Amino acid sequence: MAVIRINEIIDRLLSYHPQADTGLVQKAYVWSAKLHAGSLRESGVPYLSHPLEVAGILTEMELHESSIAAGLLHDVLEDSSITLPELESEFPKEIVRLVDGVTKIGRIPTEDSRIEVQAENFRKIILAMARDVRVILIKLADRLHNMQTLSYLPDDKKTRIAKETMEIYAPIAGRLGIHWILAQLEDLSFQYIKPEMFFRLASQMARIREARQDYTEKTQQFFEEKLAEAGIKAQVTGRFKHLYSIYRKMEKQNLTFDEVYDLIAFRVTVGSIPECYDALRVIHSIRSPVPGRIKDYIALPKANMYRSLHTTVLGPGGEREEIQLRTPEMHAVAEYGIAAHWRYKESGGIPESPEADEKTQMFLNSLVELHEELKDPYHFLESIKSEVMPDVIAVFTPDGDIVELPSGATPIDMAYSIHSDIGNHCAGAKVDGKIVPLNHNLKSGDTVEILTSNTVEPNRAWLEFVKSPRARNKINHWLSTKETQRNRELGRQVLENELLRYGKALGTLIQEGSMDQAAARFNFSSRDRLLEAIGRNRFPVRKILAQFVPPEELRSETGKTAASEKKKAFNPAAESGESEQQEDLEDPAAKEEAGPLVTITSFNDPGFSFASCCSPLVGEPVKILEKEDASMEVHRADCPRLLEQASENDLYKARWESQVEGENRITLEVVSEDRKGLLAELSSILSDDNVNIERALVRTTEEKKAMHTFRINLKTVSQLQRLINSIEKVDSVISVRRQ
Ligand code: MN
Repeated sequence: MAVIRINEIIDRLLSYHPQADTGLVQKAYVWSAKLHAGSLRESGVPYLSHPLEVAGILTEMELHESSIAAGLLHDVLEDSSITLPELESEFPKEIVRLVDGVTKIGRIPTEDSRIEVQAENFRKIILAMARDVRVILIKLADRLHNMQTLSYLPDDKKTRIAKETMEIYAPIAGRLGIHWILAQLEDLSFQYIKPEMFFRLASQMARIREARQDYTEKTQQFFEEKLAEAGIKAQVTGRFKHLYSIYRKMEKQNLTFDEVYDLIAFRVTVGSIPECYDALRVIHSIRSPVPGRIKDYIALPKANMYRSLHTTVLGPGGEREEIQLRTPEMHAVAEYGIAAHWRYKESGGIPESPEADEKTQMFLNSLVELHEELKDPYHFLESIKSEVMPDVIAVFTPDGDIVELPSGATPIDMAYSIHSDIGNHCAGAKVDGKIVPLNHNLKSGDTVEILTSNTVEPNRAWLEFVKSPRARNKINHWLSTKETQRNRELGRQVLENELLRYGKALGTLIQEGSMDQAAARFNFSSRDRLLEAIGRNRFPVRKILAQFVPPEELRSETGKTAASEKKKAFNPAAESGESEQQEDLEDPAAKEEAGPLVTITSFNDPGFSFASCCSPLVGEPVKILEKEDASMEVHRADCPRLLEQASENDLYKARWESQVEGENRITLEVVSEDRKGLLAELSSILSDDNVNIERALVRTTEEKKAMHTFRINLKTVSQLQRLINSIEKVDSVISVRRQ
């Protein structure tokens, strides 16, 4: 097989586009030759022959220099050592984008023949096409040449590639109206999928072709003469239909080969639209038309822009003759489909952005024919997706990468899917170049550009419209971190002001280490935690003051009041009721003034055991059960087992000392989706809170859920509540329960 030469490609390019930048094509050729040097095709010829043939096919589509150059380079990212950035430094962005697009389509896995997977691949390819249809034209050329050289591949590969071509690439060529590629792809695939049928039909067809040669020529001549007599200059050609279209018809209508009457179609090409109708009138005057077979696709073009008049007439022997009447422009559209659009561009320049081109969009709309009642290609995608992936949309980054998001996703979801920093600073977005609000619902096929600003921060309102768990978690995380910082700062201000009233400087106390000691005394894991608790109004500031100010100087309640007021001024939304209640939990001594009988000072006190049925923690109301053997068991006041046994045993009221030593052991059960890495994530949350984990277990339940069991040591119920809150926020967690 003679390989096409680069000079021939350039000559062809110049023949339809005289101002073409041939230097670009030359350069692409040199680079392709260099990068593929040494590799061979399966057939044993140098690899370079493949990109050359692909570029040659692209010249048959009469594409311009960028597409030709991209065709020459289409395999270098996949099959050579060059990287995308290196390619970008050598070639214009437009070309690199095309090469990158073709490479990405090639990476869409198609091994899986399940229908939903195929539909999904088809969808991805159509999405890529919506970006720039030239990517698909190059991919089709690539596939066509690969099909032409398929015989060199091992048998199993042959069948797989042929099926993929029949199921994915041929329909796309058909939708795009590129008839000559459709016909070749179908017949080549047919040959490998059903070889016996193919070769039988091929030989029958060859016989007919020979037998009808004479008839065909005579009919062509007859029509031309009759039309000339009527003053119409026409060119008539007879064309045999491609094998697969005949086979399809036989299958569909259950016909034998001999029963297929329209093996030949005659094409009548005339100079203008009025002449198409005139010619139709002349033909109907010399041959009887078959009723119901006259179609006017000029007045009513097909969605893929196809225009022609169709009729079927009865020949002299009663045989049916199918006739199509059209102008050369219509013919170009019929054969070249979307590519014809560039053939007739008078400027000779390839459109700057084909995706924005109106006519391209109209061609893309033709995809709808696959799903007839629908009005645009994205509805088509939606319809496939609603069967296959009901909850997913696919949008583009400005670089053409596909991002999948939950349906109803907004620019915020998109931003977080790229990077949490981008999400955290998402200031706005452009969809297909137009600014949209942050809660805008994205649609499949949108090109989304995220605008960021360093002054923007996540906002609680975002939680109302984001759809992806990732975005939700990141926003929650950011908000809670921010709130912690704010509380810490507020606590610092409150404490500083109060201390100043007694002539103490917070800075000095911190430097001396006294604040760290005070924090430790009240069982805070760090000074910052103490400040946060003050800021949240969950720890009375006067307790800290009492550490540094003699009691006689300390005016009662002052600090608390000041803190509450400050808190309200700083954060008017804070509910004071909740704060008071929380404070009571942290400071039970303040409430239990009624003279409790027993005071618990330590979890390690040998005089008590802490009941494992309810594992009480500091801050929870407790009672003590004195059993018959005189042992003292501490229970939560609401423990069912305590209530059960209370009648036979003595019950004591109890209270926690303001400082309790040691910790109790409790068990937490976390149910989640079965997800890798979750145990580590949960463990790190626990460790972050300085919780001592005694044991961590995970097992999978029958319902494919993961059940994590943590045995941990804790002191206070607020510490536990905090843990549960943070675990509940973790992605995939379904429930958290204290055992
Ligand atoms: Mn290739």
